[in-house]
Amino acid sequence: MEVERRIEQFKTGSKKAGVKLTHQRLEIFREVAASLKHPDAEAVFRGVQKRMPTVSLDTVYRTLWLLNGLGLITTLGPRRERVRFDANLEHHHHYICMRCGLARDFESADLSALLIPEAVKEFGSVVTTHVEVRGLCDSCAKEKAGESVSDNPERPQG
Ligand SMILES: [Zn+2]
Ligand SMILES: [Zn+2]
Repeated sequence: MEVERRIEQFKTGSKKAGVKLTHQRLEIFREVAASLKHPDAEAVFRGVQKRMPTVSLDTVYRTLWLLNGLGLITTLGPRRERVRFDANLEHHHHYICMRCGLARDFESADLSALLIPEAVKEFGSVVTTHVEVRGLCDSCAKEKAGESVSDNPERPQG
C-alpha cells in the first residue's frame, strides 16, 4: 500500500538524516501520508490527537517544520499562513478541488518535462515545476447536484 511504502521511506530517510524516530514523529508523518487532502498543521493535529490525546498543536507544528527542513515531507504551494504538507516526495502535480480543498496527486511525465520559458529565468533560478489543475471534485459535484435550488447559490458552504 502506498501509505506503508511512504512510511518505510520515511523511516529510512529519518535514519539517514540522523533524526530520532519517535512514535510521535511517526504518527505525525503517518497522518500526512494517509491523508488525500494534503492537510495543514491543524488538520494533522486533529488526526493525530485521536490516536495520541496528549499531543499538542505546538508539537505537531514544530515536527512538521522539522521534517520539512530535513526534506522528509514537502509543502504545497507558497508559504502562506496555512501551509499544507505533502508526504509524496516524487515529482508530481496536483488536482485541487476549488470547493472543499481536496488536493490529489497525479504524475505526468509530460508535465514534469515542461519547457520553462526563458523569461521565467529572468525572475530567478528554476528549481522545480508544479502544475495545479483546478476543478470541482466528484463528491462536491454530487453534493452540489443534490442541493435544492436556493435563492442565493453563492452562499458560503459550511
Ligand atoms: Zn471537493
Ligand atoms: Zn502532493
